[in-house]
Amino acid sequence: MEPDSPRPRIAVVGGGVSGLTAARELAVAGADVVVVEGADRLGGRIRGAEIAGTTIDIGAESFATRGGTVAALIEDLGMSDQIVRPAPLGSWVIDGNRSIPLPAAGTLGIPATPLSAATIRALGVSGALRAAVEPLLPHRIGSDAASFAALVRARLGSRALDRLVRPVALGVYSADPERLGVTTVPGLAAAFAERGSLIAAARDLRDGQAAAGGAVAGLREGMTQVIAGLETEVTRLGVRVLRGSKVQRLEERGMSAAPAGAWRVLGGDGAVLAEADGIVLAVPENVARRLLGERGATGQATDRIEVVALAVDDPRLDRAPRGTGALVARDAVGAGARRDGGAAPILAKALTHVTAKWPERAREAGPGRHILRLSYGRAGSAPETVGLDDAEVRSIARYDASRILGIDLRADTVVDLVRCTWRMGRPPGSRDARPLVAPAGVTLAGDWVSGTGLAAIVQGARTAAATALASASLRLPLTNRIESPLK
Ligand SMILES: Cc1cc2nc3c(=O)[nH]c(=O)nc-3n(C[C@H](O)[C@H](O)[C@H](O)COP(=O)(O)OP(=O)(O)OC[C@H]3O[C@@H](n4cnc5c(N)ncnc54)[C@H](O)[C@@H]3O)c2cc1C
Repeated sequence: MEPDSPRPRIAVVGGGVSGLTAARELAVAGADVVVVEGADRLGGRIRGAEIAGTTIDIGAESFATRGGTVAALIEDLGMSDQIVRPAPLGSWVIDGNRSIPLPAAGTLGIPATPLSAATIRALGVSGALRAAVEPLLPHRIGSDAASFAALVRARLGSRALDRLVRPVALGVYSADPERLGVTTVPGLAAAFAERGSLIAAARDLRDGQAAAGGAVAGLREGMTQVIAGLETEVTRLGVRVLRGSKVQRLEERGMSAAPAGAWRVLGGDGAVLAEADGIVLAVPENVARRLLGERGATGQATDRIEVVALAVDDPRLDRAPRGTGALVARDAVGAGARRDGGAAPILAKALTHVTAKWPERAREAGPGRHILRLSYGRAGSAPETVGLDDAEVRSIARYDASRILGIDLRADTVVDLVRCTWRMGRPPGSRDARPLVAPAGVTLAGDWVSGTGLAAIVQGARTAAATALASASLRLPLTNRIESPLK
């Protein structure tokens, strides 16, 4: 702290939604804030991409309306009129050779009404009956489950797990439910403990979402609007934003290092990017571990996915054959074989029919043009598309989209392609999560700390800002310990 200034100085490392939200909170509370971002642009995993003249989200595309956290932030940024809802078309699961509408009103694939026509269609009569007895099972069954998958298997049976829960979990968390802990789905473990039934717990969570006004929403011009709004706001509040400033090291100078500050944020060649009394580390897990000096911390802690978007001129897609999109079960295969006559698995794990889901994108794209967004890469294995050239990826994505949508898309109708590779963090509560102890004065933020989804992240970033401010202002030793309850 400057001797003549009582304002604590906080350096926020990482200019994604976590870092920018924390920076805003800190600046509003009166701190002197600098955001240090490694890339030339802000937003991290919220990013736009141009495809055939239309801008789409190639990272996060929506936010859960649960609790109203993100909507409240958007309102604070004066952008409430920009919130848009997806078309109410429902989504599908592709399982084996079958395409099944995902039963509505479930939570993470857990059916709310096991004997509904949609659930019977998905699970078959025996699978639906097996799921329907779940509320009658004693609570102890599954209560000692070591993973989310084991819990679902014990309570609802293998079919519900394989046909509904696994594809949805893969789509949402990019992780197989065998790797997820029972606490990964926010609120589910507590609701199960209270209600003694997984189906009742799923219903409670769904009702909570419905009360908050539907499950997800987006922004008229894409989620990058929230980043632009946050940037404008933090700039107005006097926050300095450094881009293209990759942090290589954090140097602790001791609590009594005033006026220089207790911490130095160092870039390449040891250049001092910032001096601060406290740090909010809002970077992906593997980067945080490396900056905190954990030996051997590399990209291993995270899995990659690749998003491939196609622009397709085919009016047959106007009828949105798979609603807003589809999730692909592990053993799904195309109805036909590839040209080489071999077996033809669908490699994509999910497809979003962007122009069916978001009417604004359809208007922008124009009549007959469709944008399809496929994602590749399941937990533990590299995306099948990584390392392939655009022509190969175009062919794989066209094949997968044809099989998922049930319409053979001709090669000459694919007018554009964009692709983007992402590293996915390990959701908190994952079975392989490891504790990370941050030194006093360093506060952690991000989805790997607070949970998947922008609602949890925004809330987590606010909490991190409050913790960092308290730590820096009061100079209290503070240790953050992030660990899995299932460790
Ligand atoms: C394809 C995809 C689709 C998704 N869809 C959704 C969705 O629909 N809804 C939803 O809620 N969530 C979704 N998510 C998840 C969501 O995007 C993320 O959880 C969220 O954006 C994470 O924000 P963050 O600020 O914590 O991390 P990031 O966005 O990863 O930000 C971290 C920042 O730190 C920077 N950084 C890294 N290393 C350094 C360094 N050494 N020095 C300085 N800066 C550094 C990075 O450049 C980045 O800007 C999706 C994610 C992906 C990849």
